[in-house]
Amino acid sequence: MYRNFRIVPNIIFGRGSFSQLDDVLAPRRVNAESFMVFVIDDVFTDSPLEMRVPLRGSDLLLRVNVDDEPKTSYIDALVAQIRAYLPQTPVGIIGIGGGSAMDIAKAVSLMLNNPGSSADYQGWDLIQNPAVYHVAVPTLAGTGAEISRTAILTGPVKKLGINSDYTLFDQILLDPDLLAEVPKDQWFYTGMDCYIHDVESLQGTFINEFSKAYGEKSLDLCRQVFLEDHPDRDDKLMMASYFGGMSIAYSQVGACHALSYGLSYVLGIHHGIGCCIAFDYLEDIYPAGVAEFRQMMKRHDISLPRGLTKNLDQAAMEKMVTTALGLVPLWQNCLGPDWEKIMTRERTMEIYRRM
Ligand code: NAD
Ligand code: ZN
Repeated sequence: MYRNFRIVPNIIFGRGSFSQLDDVLAPRRVNAESFMVFVIDDVFTDSPLEMRVPLRGSDLLLRVNVDDEPKTSYIDALVAQIRAYLPQTPVGIIGIGGGSAMDIAKAVSLMLNNPGSSADYQGWDLIQNPAVYHVAVPTLAGTGAEISRTAILTGPVKKLGINSDYTLFDQILLDPDLLAEVPKDQWFYTGMDCYIHDVESLQGTFINEFSKAYGEKSLDLCRQVFLEDHPDRDDKLMMASYFGGMSIAYSQVGACHALSYGLSYVLGIHHGIGCCIAFDYLEDIYPAGVAEFRQMMKRHDISLPRGLTKNLDQAAMEKMVTTALGLVPLWQNCLGPDWEKIMTRERTMEIYRRM
């Protein structure tokens, strides 16, 4: 059976397009009671960007903290806060930030229309009711969260996304101007998430012409961004992120993402940097990709933390291995149906020990 997958129906791309947000939202404000919730990364508190958020009437500006990647308990608390704010449901949720803020916006918009805790919906197609209309405005580029059908959450027992067609944004607004102030390290880590999506998609066994078309273009854009000099590199990186997301939507990621999930679950390491850390130990699997990645690191003078697992006890190490190996489709994509014979617990443990 082929996947019949939904994509984001409305997209605005262009420098300065953030100014169009008010017009985009206007038709949703159907009566005087209608209000929007702007979910904005608190890194923008009192910033020029926050001043430009088109608040009207009783709209709520909800600053969110992403020092930790989004947790199900945090989503549940934000939903409770919105429900307590006004009796009616908001007519729109607008996520402004990187992958974390976008995932928070997705999860909140779903949970406003679905009962229980967000932890109940970590998995595939468990959501029953469509989400509140939701919009993404990325301020970092690379995760592909703007185009994906998942909102990745850390729950009480697992790190797993709410995967569903309802998770997809109704509208995305891609304004490369919003990348201007990103600190270099973060720009690199999140950008490498995209580069690694492309390598894992293109080199995976699930590859097909659809994913290849997007993945190759994304890879080409990443090379322009990270190995060449272009004044419009932020435009390029935004499109690379989108295309990389489209590529993995119809294929899958691989070993690096599986290992980064273990790092994140046990050590709380963020997605982008976690992928960079793991990728650097995967030259056996992705020789050309890792060589090029190191060239990119060198060009941008990036160094990665080492010795991360040095002080971990056996139980924590086992948990990390179990988390990584639990991501079966990622390994199947990477190594084929016999992946378990190739990526044994011992080999996985050995890779983690080197980190
Ligand atoms: P992020 O959203 O976690 O943000 C990283 C840091 O950058 C934060 O401190 C944030 O405050 C800051 N930041 C964001 N925009 C900024 C800007 N313009 N200027 C200065 N600082 C800024 O980073 P990310 O790499 O975009 O996203 C990682 C998250 O996305 C993880 O939670 C991961 O699980 C998730 N993710 C989701 C998907 C998906 O498909 N849904 C895919 C990959 C990753
Ligand atoms: Zn990723």
